[in-house]
Amino acid sequence: MSLRQTEAIVIKSYSLSEADRIVVFFTREFGLIRGVAKGAKRLQSRFGSMLEPFSTVSLEYFQKEERELVSIQSVDLIKSRFATASDPDFLDTYSYIGDLLTDFSFPHDADEKLYRMLSACLSAAETERGLASVGLYFEVWLLRLSGFLPDWSSCEVCSRPTDPSREFLLVPGFHLQCPTCKRNYVIGTINSADMQTFNAVQRLSPTDFIQFSSTNQESVVVISSVMKRLIAQALGREVAGGAALR
Ligand SMILES: [Zn+2]
Repeated sequence: MSLRQTEAIVIKSYSLSEADRIVVFFTREFGLIRGVAKGAKRLQSRFGSMLEPFSTVSLEYFQKEERELVSIQSVDLIKSRFATASDPDFLDTYSYIGDLLTDFSFPHDADEKLYRMLSACLSAAETERGLASVGLYFEVWLLRLSGFLPDWSSCEVCSRPTDPSREFLLVPGFHLQCPTCKRNYVIGTINSADMQTFNAVQRLSPTDFIQFSSTNQESVVVISSVMKRLIAQALGREVAGGAALR
């Protein structure tokens, strides 16, 4: 049995027994973990309110070999997001991000890039108005870091670099083709503003992307619908919101 200490973000928690809760954390050093918080449901719990979803905490836990559930030893609050997460709109976006994260991550599989991206998205959502942009940012990067993001840097047929000032056709497999190269049945159109939005997500920080996309929410919806279809394909199930293609 070993004691581990790491920074973590509380994703969600659920009841285990009369007094105990199971808490899902995404940790900076050890990826996704599920832990038992003994006595967390008691009024005088030593965990207090530190297990509120989307808080950033300093976490200590005991890890037994070959056990998926860890035993939570102590939790110290680094940053609470309780006030933000109490707003239903924020909670919707935060919960969507939390669900995607648990769907795409394997327990105990460390991914510090994903941790930093998650943390940046949660913080950007608090300071900037643009929850749809935050949702899209998380979708694109989650797909990219998991290897599911298609390459839109060139046309699938002629291999010429895609010029972001032009329009392209989206074909099955979620690749792009020039209108003059059209070989397949077309599932949508990606216009110049959409291309620039897709490129900006991958170039900018979440905060800068929210500002960039504030005047182009239509492209945020279009690119997000493509990402939701990719997510549905990767997970093998329906994801709401994938229908808004041009
Ligand atoms: Zn082409």
